[in-house]
Amino acid sequence: MINFDTYSFAGKRAIVRVDFNVPLDKAFNVTDDNRIRAALPTIKKILSDGGSAILMSHLGRPKDGPEEKFSLKHILPTLSKHLGVEVKFAPDCIGAEAVQLSSALKPGEVLLLENLRFYKEEEKGDEGFAQKLANLADVYVNDAFGTAHRAHASTTIIAKFFPQNKMFGYLIQSELNGLEKVLHKPQKPYTAVLGGAKVSTKITIIENLMDKVDNLIIGGGMMFTFIKAQGGKIGSSMVEDDKLDMALDIMAKAKQKGVNILLPVDTVIADSFSNEANSKVVRVDDIPEGWLGLDIAQDSVEQFSKVIENSKTILWNGPMGVFEMPKFAEGTKQVAKAMARATANGAFSLVGGGDSVAAINSLGLADEVSYVSTGGGALLEYLENGDLPGIKAVRE
Ligand code: AMP
Repeated sequence: MINFDTYSFAGKRAIVRVDFNVPLDKAFNVTDDNRIRAALPTIKKILSDGGSAILMSHLGRPKDGPEEKFSLKHILPTLSKHLGVEVKFAPDCIGAEAVQLSSALKPGEVLLLENLRFYKEEEKGDEGFAQKLANLADVYVNDAFGTAHRAHASTTIIAKFFPQNKMFGYLIQSELNGLEKVLHKPQKPYTAVLGGAKVSTKITIIENLMDKVDNLIIGGGMMFTFIKAQGGKIGSSMVEDDKLDMALDIMAKAKQKGVNILLPVDTVIADSFSNEANSKVVRVDDIPEGWLGLDIAQDSVEQFSKVIENSKTILWNGPMGVFEMPKFAEGTKQVAKAMARATANGAFSLVGGGDSVAAINSLGLADEVSYVSTGGGALLEYLENGDLPGIKAVRE
């Protein structure tokens, strides 16, 4: 495996898969440039070595060829400003003009290719299309973790055209370093905190973690499937009735493997799914009919926090309650704070998967945990399988 950091890009043209899938307003201004800023260290390293960079990305979900609102040209001003370089643009990601523009690149120059998904071949993982992209450059750098779970042309297939010259950029490298600490070399005690809506979407992760963790904390909507499976009264709370056996099975397996499963003991219930609902705290297995549990309550928070604070490795995916409503965000907030305290005491904490990242950001605690994954679906798949097509393609 080539180490991106020590590799010299002098005189080389590097084609870099970045994630510039950023939100745009109606006038096509970038409204959140986090993903662009996150890619800068990788691009700048290539340029400062004396190389040139050809950047490729998708933007949105174009259905049938080019669409103005999905053109990557809209991000040029933001990208040029951050890089301090006038970025050139290829209005078609393949074809004669892209070839001409990329071969004319001088050291320190940057070319942005038009949206890859204007070609169906991108998502199909078409080899011919991947080869046309590959022909534009000497070296391939993948730095888009969020799409590494897709075997698309630019994220996976292209790697085969660079058998000796493929590598990860800084972003993917730091994701992999973080994941290594929770999947392969966790310091013990190791606690996984899982929440979110459904147990069915997390089952493979739970099974994979069962061999690694000491404690498994379960909150969020999915806790009620466990509570009901054990005979508890859950009122009108979210539940997956066809997964009750699965929940019991998980509990049995945990017992067998010596994993300590922690379920909430109390819950904040509401008489409707609304921030304005009437609410009160009850035991988690004694919810009156017509009421629904929307957060974990104080006794649960205390139990969970104690375990989290005594851990050396913590993985968190999925909110403890309906954190989007302030009235039911407290459980998620307290768990995040316990993670922050554990981190301050030397634990390694990783937060990942769409909603948990949104939660930790909205609580302003992102800087107080060790690592916040940008992965979303890619992170969840990595936790399930321990690998991703885009990662494997570069490692092989
Ligand atoms: P997930 O994408 O599976 O991580 O689920 C995240 C969603 O689960 C968030 O939108 C939360 O509002 C929701 N959620 C968490 N706790 C509950 C609950 N007790 N009842 C209903 N939805 C919940």
